[in-house]
Amino acid sequence: MMRLSAGAAERIRAEGERLYPSECCGLLLGGAAGEGVRTVLCALPIKNAREARERHHRFVIEADDFLRGERAARERGMDVVGVYHSHPDHPARPSDYDREHALPYYSYIIVAVEKGRAAELRSFVPAEDRSDFFREETEIITD
Ligand SMILES: [Zn+2]
Repeated sequence: MMRLSAGAAERIRAEGERLYPSECCGLLLGGAAGEGVRTVLCALPIKNAREARERHHRFVIEADDFLRGERAARERGMDVVGVYHSHPDHPARPSDYDREHALPYYSYIIVAVEKGRAAELRSFVPAEDRSDFFREETEIITD
C-alpha cells in the first residue's frame, strides 16, 4: 500500500509528458509511515542515462545520480523508497527489462504516456527473487 502525494503524482505525469517520446525516470522520496504503508512525498527527476536510440523503451539511473538522489532525500529528512518511469505509448505494466533490473525493496511507479498525454499511473513491488511484480495499491493524498 502506498500513499502518494498529489504533487508527486503530478510531477511524474508532467515529466512523462515533457520527455515523450523518451522514457522519463526518477526517484521516489518519502518514508514508511508504519504497518506496510509507504508514503511518497516527492518525485525527484533523474536523467535517463540510456543511449538516445534506446530511451523510448529503456531507462537507467547511473550510480552517481542515484547517490545524489539519496543525499537530496536525506537533506529533506526522507529516504529513497522507489523509482518511477514512463512508458511512452505502452501500458503501465512492468516489462521484462523492468523486472530484471528491479531492486526488491523499492516501489516502482509506471505512468503510461499515450501520444504525449499522461494516462494511467500504477505502482508495483517486485518479488524478492525478481520473478514477478505485484500491483501495489495507491492512494493519492493531498500535500
Ligand atoms: Zn518500463
